[in-house]
Amino acid sequence: MFITFEGGEGAGKSTQVRLLQQHLATIVPSGRVVMTREPGGTPGAEAIRDLLLFGKHDLSLRAETLMHFSARYDHVDHLIRPALEAGKIVISDRFTDSTEAYQGYGRGAGDHDILALIASLRQQTGVVPDLTFILDIPRTVARERLRARGNRPDRYEAATEAFHARVAEGFAAIARHEPDRCITLDATLPPDILARVIAGHVTTRLPM
Ligand code: C5P
Repeated sequence: MFITFEGGEGAGKSTQVRLLQQHLATIVPSGRVVMTREPGGTPGAEAIRDLLLFGKHDLSLRAETLMHFSARYDHVDHLIRPALEAGKIVISDRFTDSTEAYQGYGRGAGDHDILALIASLRQQTGVVPDLTFILDIPRTVARERLRARGNRPDRYEAATEAFHARVAEGFAAIARHEPDRCITLDATLPPDILARVIAGHVTTRLPM
């Protein structure tokens, strides 16, 4: 089973990924749950992540989009697909929806090209999320959380408010197009309550 978490920065994705892993550890054998993230997740993809987030050079939009896919292919080939084939539950902090929202809607790469890249990845690897949680957060709350966190903003976090609004619109559109896979949740809820809601959705879908 492949579960992904999506949403803007400051939505609390990594906290929820960790809480879901802790919950699953109480109901499935240890070693059956794999937690990962994008961009990154494997040594090669993490090196690409560094370039994407903190590289000195502004990449063209096409180059940036393909770099996300390059990292993703390494992640899928080396980690996600083997884990799914071994019957594990894989939880990823971001996946293809982030590319559609950030590069497609945010930077304006055009949904069409990105959907073709996503379709090709699915066709070549057979890897598609079974369930996606989109954590929805008003930008004002997210900005406050990021300020409190105080870490170095990457190039996307430092982008304009209009960019973040387009990204949020992208996630909303994805949720509308794929209602069976995507569950949008209010990320202003207390983390423990949100975690319980997420655990409920996952538990009902777990293969016996
Ligand atoms: O989820 P996390 O905050 O670690 O993501 C790292 C950064 O990469 C974020 O600023 C996110 O907005 C950005 N990103 C992106 N395009 C993607 C995936 C992530 O711009 N396809």
